[in-house]
Amino acid sequence: MTERQVLHGGTVLTGPQWRPRPADLLIAGGRIEAVAAPGSLAGVDAATHDVTGRLVIPGLINAHTHSHTAPARGAARAWTLEDSLLNGGWMAAPRSEELTELAALLTATELIASGCTGAFDLIAQAGGPDPAGCHAAARGYARAGLRTVLAPMVADRTLHEAVPAIGACCGAPSTGKPGPSTADVLAACTAYVRNFPALQGVMPALAPTIPGHCTPELTVGLGRLAAEHGLRVHTHLAESKPQALAGASRFGHSITRELARLGVLGDRLTVAHAIWVDDEDIRMLAASGAVAVTVPGSNLRLGSGIADTRAMLAAGLRLAVGTDGANSADAFDALDAVRLTALLSRVSERPARQWLTVEETLDAATAGGAAACGWTDTGRLAPGRRADFALLDLGARAFRPPTDLANQLLTAARAADVTDVVVGGRFVYRDRGFPHLDVAAALNRFDTLVEEFRARVAPVRADADRQTALAATALAGLRRAPSPVRRLIGWR
Ligand SMILES: [Zn+2]
Repeated sequence: MTERQVLHGGTVLTGPQWRPRPADLLIAGGRIEAVAAPGSLAGVDAATHDVTGRLVIPGLINAHTHSHTAPARGAARAWTLEDSLLNGGWMAAPRSEELTELAALLTATELIASGCTGAFDLIAQAGGPDPAGCHAAARGYARAGLRTVLAPMVADRTLHEAVPAIGACCGAPSTGKPGPSTADVLAACTAYVRNFPALQGVMPALAPTIPGHCTPELTVGLGRLAAEHGLRVHTHLAESKPQALAGASRFGHSITRELARLGVLGDRLTVAHAIWVDDEDIRMLAASGAVAVTVPGSNLRLGSGIADTRAMLAAGLRLAVGTDGANSADAFDALDAVRLTALLSRVSERPARQWLTVEETLDAATAGGAAACGWTDTGRLAPGRRADFALLDLGARAFRPPTDLANQLLTAARAADVTDVVVGGRFVYRDRGFPHLDVAAALNRFDTLVEEFRARVAPVRADADRQTALAATALAGLRRAPSPVRRLIGWR
């Protein structure tokens, strides 16, 4: 049990109104007990923190990331999503538990330093899910103190099967051995869930990576396993045009409709990207209670297209925000993802009054992210909620002059303006440092391990380079192919 604490002198900014006001916070047992008038908690028996000159916001939640890609930062120059997937073999190559844990720890610390208190991480492991490796990542998040939902990201079909145009160009992937069977994947996921270690703030979930990369048996099996254990299911939905076209061709209807047919569309489901979805898909997602995570930085980086976040909100679909992995994020910067979410909603012919508002965007990044993770008691600063929040320096340039703090948080604040982060009442980031961690030592060890890792995967990476070259013309054709929705600008 965390001791009672009072934070006094700060300016509180929280949803749903997002109107700044001077207020003091009383925290007990890891939760917010009171948000009170300045000075009114002076007589309370508690440890006190003077946060004068700080903006106190609910912690941002990165609802879609991949810590296993941390060693691949900088590897991509002009990859599309399919190029990234063709490189997935080496990015997800087997590695030591130490490297897996360090990648999660460093991903977590980078997110925390940008104001994050929570994340949803999907980990790919070439050759099939390895429960012990996933548990190592869970330990990394627990050491950093970031509240996390963690899922092994699994498949039992190859990209070459899922997008036949790639298979036609490249042949079968040359991994040297067949992928895991459906039964093997389900057994490993069951072991992952059943043996999940008891760690503060870290919990398991399940992730059929992309519906087209899964047999119906796998998707249904994971849905059942999730229901049995009360877990979230997270998948990539219609992220690219080739993916959406291949899905429609295979299923005879949209990928969203296929998820409904398989019984996994529902309030347990989190879908990332959801770019190439039509109005009916969006309506079905909204009606099911699913949560959509927009991942704007990655979508720009991979040229995937622009998600119609306004249509999602108009349909009543719950929206969250994510960064994606280091190969396409590229920095784990939650504030950057929030700003891009707002700005990308403006690249349309709709009137300006239909752009995402400041309040809608900040809500998506906080309470929406909590919903994507299945957390009902985070995402706002209110009595009874978990004490998950970030402090920002109101003396920073971003807030000078103080004109409209919610707007300035969205448009001008940067990770460097975050001074402290509290998760469950514990300062995991204090005065821009990590009081419980030696991050410099972790980074040095990470660099050493990554060097070994890169040398070992070099042949697989070279083969991925060869395959991306072979697939380029076919993929370029698919980008121009007719589609029921338009999510790329049709410049000629
Ligand atoms: Zn992803």
